[in-house]
Amino acid sequence: MNETQFHSVLTYFVLIGAAITFIALLRLVAPYGRHSAPGWGPTISARMGWLIMESPAVILFVAIYLQGENATALAPLVLLAMWQFHYICRTLIYPLRLSTAAQPMPVSIVAIAILFNTVNAWINARWISHLGSYEPTWLTSWPFIVGALLFITGWLINQHADTVLLRLRKQGSAKYRVPRGGLYRFISCPNYLGEMLEWFGWAIATWSMAGLAFALFTSANLIPRAIAHHQWYRKQFPDYPAGRRALLPRVV
Ligand code: NDP
Repeated sequence: MNETQFHSVLTYFVLIGAAITFIALLRLVAPYGRHSAPGWGPTISARMGWLIMESPAVILFVAIYLQGENATALAPLVLLAMWQFHYICRTLIYPLRLSTAAQPMPVSIVAIAILFNTVNAWINARWISHLGSYEPTWLTSWPFIVGALLFITGWLINQHADTVLLRLRKQGSAKYRVPRGGLYRFISCPNYLGEMLEWFGWAIATWSMAGLAFALFTSANLIPRAIAHHQWYRKQFPDYPAGRRALLPRVV
């Protein structure tokens, strides 16, 4: 099996993993945050959990990228910058913004995320710097422009929505409140919607199966979680806004 074939096999593993994850998470909510439950083994602080589990997406991604034959070409460098922009925020800045009272995270979740981020870093980094082909003109092509705009829009939605939540959680308090403003007027989880838009943007901007597999895996994770959050809000807050949906205004 040559490297291109191996890359395809790993990408299909991620796609199959997305289908399995989606079905599993519709029955079982991932046990972290408000859905934490006993019986999932030892835990670490949420800050440490995010830092450790997302690190491969920063460090390993760069290391793999730099091995590629096209690592110094313009278009791959721009794609690298997009990826790193998101993941440096998520890995290094987001944990520092978390309340110290955020629910601890099971080590088992951290371990699964490290495994996923390792595979995902390889298929995406190897694609953009070695197996895929991106001339400088790619940066003025429609897929790149549309994908990059979607990526930026998703990032802005995600950042705003996360900021609203982090402000709700006063330092030291473990209390949950009803988030309001922005897209919270319409849906319970705009942070997840923004995240999904980002990675579909990435899939379009790279026009790759690796990008699509990641976008679908993210959706498989976040759609069931958004539904679980939405049901949880409705149970916890009897006056929860009736017209609010889970993830897509007026749809779901
Ligand atoms: P949540 O919305 O569950 O929680 C985000 C933070 O805000 C947590 O610290 C949480 O505290 C706190 N919080 C949430 N809701 C409230 C509320 N109503 N009142 C007070 N505090 C609140 O998000 P996740 O932890 O699941 O995800 C965090 C980020 O990571 C998101 O931007 C998400 O898009 C991204 N992500 C990406 C994934 C991917 O596959 N690419 C997978 C998972 C997440 P506590 O933890 O104590 O509940």
